[in-house]
Amino acid sequence: MARTLPVIIAGGGIGGIAAALGLARKGIASIVLERAAELGEIGAGIQIGPNAFHCFDYLGVGDQARTRAVYIDHLRLMDALSAEQIAAIPLEADFRRRFGNPYAVVHRADLHGALLDACRASDLIELRTRHNVLGYEQDGSSVRVLLEDRDPLDGRALIAADGLRSNLRAQLIGDGEPRVSGHTTYRSVIPAERMPADLRWNAATLWAGPKCHIVHYPLKGWKVFNLVVTYHNDVEEAVTGKPVSKDEVRQGFEHIHPRAQQIIEHGEDWKLWVLCDRDPVLDWVDGRVALLGDAAHPMLQYFAQGACMALEDAVCLSHMFGSHSDDIETALDRYQRQRRVRTARVQLDSRLIGDYVYHAAGAVAEVRNQIMSGLSTDDWYDRLAWLYGGTGLDP
Ligand SMILES: Cc1cc2nc3c(=O)[nH]c(=O)nc-3n(C[C@H](O)[C@H](O)[C@H](O)COP(=O)(O)OP(=O)(O)OC[C@H]3O[C@@H](n4cnc5c(N)ncnc54)[C@H](O)[C@@H]3O)c2cc1C
Repeated sequence: MARTLPVIIAGGGIGGIAAALGLARKGIASIVLERAAELGEIGAGIQIGPNAFHCFDYLGVGDQARTRAVYIDHLRLMDALSAEQIAAIPLEADFRRRFGNPYAVVHRADLHGALLDACRASDLIELRTRHNVLGYEQDGSSVRVLLEDRDPLDGRALIAADGLRSNLRAQLIGDGEPRVSGHTTYRSVIPAERMPADLRWNAATLWAGPKCHIVHYPLKGWKVFNLVVTYHNDVEEAVTGKPVSKDEVRQGFEHIHPRAQQIIEHGEDWKLWVLCDRDPVLDWVDGRVALLGDAAHPMLQYFAQGACMALEDAVCLSHMFGSHSDDIETALDRYQRQRRVRTARVQLDSRLIGDYVYHAAGAVAEVRNQIMSGLSTDDWYDRLAWLYGGTGLDP
């Protein structure tokens, strides 16, 4: 009987709807349960590595994702104290040849929209909003999903893609609240013509300074620049999307070069997030229930890979369901075995590059500058191959 039940997916973010799409490609029906009244994405831009493009192709939305993306020429690293360039990694033909796909930036709503359109076009995917998933019970042959103010729903498996504060992770792992990093991120978007003319680079640019950094890149067909600026101010409380004044944003950046500081002056409608992550864990599966995306491995954004990892998870999960369709528990176990070391590495390395690259000061910054300015393009590609060469199908 469980074979005829759909897979239930909790959470309609990038990870959840990518998983639904991947399962549909294997002929498996699913129901996506989203707590919010509407499916969508908040925030502005997101960077997507070639590993994510491999996933879009697998999920059948490669063309749609490519059409909506902005193709940048470089990943550029600037010293925020001296305003000098430390390194620039070219992303053009050689990069694409090496990794089989481009590096790009895209508006979150466009990316989510490409996946959502494909879900809506599939007979195998049902999308339900205003469904708050509280927990689950299982009996070895099916899973019962417990919902707020609604009857429970039975599925052949439950995929928990319910994000950083996952209710299902609380039941499955029970490792408490996420770790508050003490890094405060402020986000804004500015019209391209308000970006200082000499900084209108076709690049994802990182200005790295002591305990702070600034990231900017063009978005929406070059109509706007996405700004994400972060101050390591050791705050202890998690905050999500709180509007803040420009004066408050300026405070963490008074010690950096005026050329970098001026970028903040052009931002409006700033919003604040205090970033959280978790320590990696090795076990994200309980029988017929598995975590995916931020619910499984929330990370700081310094590798710009959280959504890319959720997409890889979706690919791997669908692949395992396709290969072990008669044995869901084996499929889920294989999925977590394949994904856990790679995602743990990105979680841990994201913390490390936060300390040693993004927010370095004094001698650490000098070491960063010397090492990174000395790398050739091939050195960079070799160092990034483990990450950008991934597809979700390899460990
Ligand atoms: C500042 C910042 C910049 C970033 N930049 C990048 C980047 O450049 N590149 C990149 O790849 N990643 C980036 N990330 C990470 C990326 O945003 C996340 O990793 C990704 O969105 C995770 O997707 P998800 O689907 O797992 O979780 P979410 O996007 O959190 O989706 C979870 C969904 O589940 C729903 N939900 C929650 N609880 C319930 C419930 N009880 N019942 C039903 N539904 C529920 C939520 O409403 C939501 O829709 C960044 C993150 C931050 C904070």
